[in-house]
Amino acid sequence: MKPAPFAYYAPQEVDEALELLKQHGDEAKILAGGQSLMPLLSLRLARPGVLIDINRVANLAFVRRGANGGLAIGALTRQRALERSAEVASQSPLLSATIPLIAHFQIRNRGTIGGSLAHADPAAELPAVALVLGAELVLRSASGERVVHAKDFFLGYMTTAIEPNELLIEIRIPGLRQQAGWAIEEVARRRGDFAMVGVATAVELNGNNTCQDARIVLFGVGEKPERMERAEQLLRGQEATQTQPAEAAKAVSEDLDPVADVHASAEYRKEVGGVLTRRALEKAFRRAQKAIS
Ligand SMILES: Cc1cc2nc3c(=O)[nH]c(=O)nc-3n(C[C@H](O)[C@H](O)[C@H](O)COP(=O)(O)OP(=O)(O)OC[C@H]3O[C@@H](n4cnc5c(N)ncnc54)[C@H](O)[C@@H]3O)c2cc1C
Repeated sequence: MKPAPFAYYAPQEVDEALELLKQHGDEAKILAGGQSLMPLLSLRLARPGVLIDINRVANLAFVRRGANGGLAIGALTRQRALERSAEVASQSPLLSATIPLIAHFQIRNRGTIGGSLAHADPAAELPAVALVLGAELVLRSASGERVVHAKDFFLGYMTTAIEPNELLIEIRIPGLRQQAGWAIEEVARRRGDFAMVGVATAVELNGNNTCQDARIVLFGVGEKPERMERAEQLLRGQEATQTQPAEAAKAVSEDLDPVADVHASAEYRKEVGGVLTRRALEKAFRRAQKAIS
């Protein structure tokens, strides 16, 4: 099928894009990499009256060192650019390791970090990683700018805190501490497919091998990426022994109330969510232990 008719604008400056959003916000869609939006348009599952193509907007694609460590990434930065960035690999190895799990390189050549976060597919990797890393999202409209923490950004099924007149401009990713470890694990039917279940985690140990902090986010299980707070709590303040990941994984499995769909049953997701959590935590602890040894 072909998309329903729409008016097309290709602004060259952020301010021009914001002015267009001010005029047409309610009926407009931003076009970034088009890897999620174009199929929706072609199937007529989305019928925006106006398309604002931001691909020619200057200064929206960049990777910079953040003010106090970490990274500042422009929303239009292609996923493939992140995958190849030495800066991302050194400042945010979890983000770097995540990108190759997204689709195939042809899709990552066009797909952007901002598009993936704004699209907020519950099975997508980047929203889960943004939550684990405590990312901040910079949203700008013609009347000002605000910064939204990832925990307040993902509201529900493909729904975010972005208002119709706002553009996602930048993603700020705090650096991991020296003694931190991380991992991402997922199960997909074929390489490059969306995950049926996935988990991203980051842990922090002190010199006594005690877990100072743990963040565990499951994706592909519900309406949005889910932080598993009881399991995290079980790890904090405890020595990072071999049994800890299994106990936290059991809590994840118990607490998950996943969706069932054509890809997997709820029982499968509960079981596999636990198994992946154990594996991810084991890897994350090993990385943290190596970092402080
Ligand atoms: C075959 C296939 C397999 C895929 N597999 C995976 C996968 O395994 N994992 C995964 O995570 N993704 C997967 N994707 C999706 C891919 O990662 C997309 O690139 C991504 O979801 C959307 O990014 P985009 O830049 O293409 O955004 P677009 O498709 O251009 O836009 C997506 C949505 O975000 C909005 N938007 C985009 N940029 C902004 C902005 N700066 N401010 C406000 N709103 C904005 C758009 O209006 C639209 O609603 C797959 C896609 C395909 C086609």
